Order: sequence, then structure tokens, then C-alpha cells
Amino acid sequence: MPLQFHQFAYNSDNYGVLVHDPATATTTCIDAGDAGAVLDALQATGWALSDLWITHHHWDHTDALAELKSKTGCAVTGPEGVKGVDKVVKGGDSFAFAGHSVEVIHTPGHTLDMLNFYLPEAHCVFTGDTLFVMGCGRLFEGDGPMMWASMQKLMALPPETVVYCAHEYTLASADFALSVDPDNSALQAQVARVKALREQGAPTVPTDIATELATNPFLRPHDAAIRSELGMQDATDAEVFTEIRARKDRF
Ligand code: ZN
Ligand code: FE
Repeated sequence: MPLQFHQFAYNSDNYGVLVHDPATATTTCIDAGDAGAVLDALQATGWALSDLWITHHHWDHTDALAELKSKTGCAVTGPEGVKGVDKVVKGGDSFAFAGHSVEVIHTPGHTLDMLNFYLPEAHCVFTGDTLFVMGCGRLFEGDGPMMWASMQKLMALPPETVVYCAHEYTLASADFALSVDPDNSALQAQVARVKALREQGAPTVPTDIATELATNPFLRPHDAAIRSELGMQDATDAEVFTEIRARKDRF
């Protein structure tokens, strides 16, 4: 039986996701920023929380960890250094969730501890604050080449992989993407699509790897048009990526 997904919003722009295996009544939540939002989502779905996966140590992903653990008894999987994690995992590890395999991908850059969770059979990945719709996370703890190496790990996933990211930053990311890649028709179409979604109050998350490869400037430092826009025809991909990230910080 396929896994079921329930995405919910919290704080001003965060998303969490419940993943449920109906055959075993097992449920995990990706990140724990707000206990009330997670408990509401559990009530709305009727699912009981058995697991919790943490992407990185920032407060909007971990603040509710202790409360959720004590209220639900869930087992917490996440990076080293996050208080309350029962099972520490690192990049390259894999574990089973109700018989479904989960591969742990280390994507440092936003933070050094960032973990992404890839479910190959369900064709989805939880990218935390690494990859956003048309965007990527700010470099708080890592540098451009480090984040570019992380991006390449996600770019190597099958194109149909559905991407759940942790923030609704899409409209701001769209404006920036157009500023460095103005003639990209796939990007223009994607911007029109997400603007319509936001006008209806609908989330723009999830996205997928194929869409991001075609529209996300942070996955396109090799692109000739972007390089020409930046005047960086002869730079390396890591250098172009780093410049795009720096421009987004100033945008
Ligand atoms: Zn963060
Ligand atoms: Fe965050």
C-alpha cells in the first residue's frame, strides 16, 4: 500500500509533513517546529505519531521536539547534536520506515548538520532548508562550494522525485530567479503558475526535481544564459553558484 502524505503550515512560512503507512499505522513527521500544528495535523488525519525525523538544528525545525516526544512517545531520528534525538543518523545511512527504505543525504551549507530524507520507492525527498522552490537555503554555517556539492546530490535524484521543502519562500525566490535567468521560458511559466497558486492561498510546495532542474537558478550554474547574465562565462559551476547565492542575499 502506498504511503500517504499530509503537508501542513506553521509559523509564518514553514511547512511540516506527516507521512503515514496505512498497512502498519505508522506515522512520521518531518521536523518539529510547532507542537500545536503537528498535533492538529494528527487530529485532522486521525494518525498517531510513531516517528519524528529532524533535518537540522534550527529552532523552527526542533522547538517542539521534546513536547511531541512526551505527548506521543515518538522515536526521534536526526543529526548528531540535536537534543532529544534517539537515533543519530548521518549521510549515506539508510533505515526502514514501516518497511519502506529511507536514505539519508547529508546536504551541508545552510547548516553543517543538514540531513535530507529520500524515499526511493515513494519517489520523494524532504529537503529541509537546502532546496526550495526556485531557491536554496541561506549559507549560515557553510560556504558556496559546500552548498553546491549538496545541490548536486539532490540533482542526481530521479527527475520525477517529489521535493518537500520546509518553507514557502516561493514568490521571493521567483522574483530573484527571473533577475538572473530572465529569458528562461520554463521559469516564466513556473512563475505564472506559482503566482496563481498563491493568489488562491494554495501552497507551492511540493515541487519536483525535474521542475527545479529547469527553473531553479541554484541548480543551473552551468547554464550559458545565466553565465552570460552574470558575466561569468569562464568560471566554475561552484563559482557561479556562489555568486548567485551572494546576489540573492543582496536582492
Ligand atoms: Zn534552517
Ligand atoms: Fe527553517
